[in-house]
Amino acid sequence: MARIIAVANQKGGVGKTTTAVNLGACLAALGKRALLIDIDPQGNTTSGVGVNKADVENCIYDVLINDVSAQEAIRSTEIESLHIIPATIQLAGAEIELVPTISREVRLRKALQPLKSKYDYIIIDCPPSLGLLTINALTAADSVLIPIQCEYYALEGLSQLLNTIRLVQKHLNTKLEIEGVVLTMLDARTNLGIQVIEDVKKYFREKVYQTIIPRNVRLSEAPSHGQPIISYDPRSRGAEVYMDLAKEVAG
Ligand code: ADP
Ligand code: MG
Repeated sequence: MARIIAVANQKGGVGKTTTAVNLGACLAALGKRALLIDIDPQGNTTSGVGVNKADVENCIYDVLINDVSAQEAIRSTEIESLHIIPATIQLAGAEIELVPTISREVRLRKALQPLKSKYDYIIIDCPPSLGLLTINALTAADSVLIPIQCEYYALEGLSQLLNTIRLVQKHLNTKLEIEGVVLTMLDARTNLGIQVIEDVKKYFREKVYQTIIPRNVRLSEAPSHGQPIISYDPRSRGAEVYMDLAKEVAG
């Protein structure tokens, strides 16, 4: 049965999408059957694995709102055993459209149920908010993986995220766990990063992954080529560290 991992942090630009895409691709490279789910209207995970949003027929919006089956929305990618349910800008309306619908928080969980036997990992890339799309992801997930950027305000806003996680645990998904915390975009040239690492470790302890993702130019270039880092530049530092992270996640 698939382990469903939501990659969440309501802050934008902390490395959620980069982590979702590359963790998915690296798990696939390790021989796991991986499915990415893009629930960010920006659709960066979708384009990040080379899916052209213009020719997406069914996206996650149709699954959440129009009762299209998740199976029908799955697309393959250039990486064998990495699939995706894409998002297009249409999803921007879903946050509002979900409000009056029945069982609005559990739509994604219900939709993914039939896919659980077909994958080893299902990775959901969340939008930068704590609205209904993120709630759907946390309700569908077995665990949440939190990327934290190594910068001055790193811990700011985390209490809201943890509060939301607790509310979901209490009311919607008692089994939700914290999968782990991954520190991203470390700039080795400054001492600030080291301080942030210490603070985050004090707070999350053994939940913090050994693997720390450094700033790496190749990681920031890969999305514009529609490729995960292991395809774009398999010998880069970025590819190396995301493979390390995937091994930690796969245990
Ligand atoms: P989020 O999904 O949380 O908004 P992204 O993964 O899209 O964050 O990352 C924000 C920006 O930073 C993107 O342009 C991405 O390419 C870049 N980026 C992410 N991780 C790294 C990294 N380790 N090194 C360099 N650039 C990165
Ligand atoms: Mg993103």
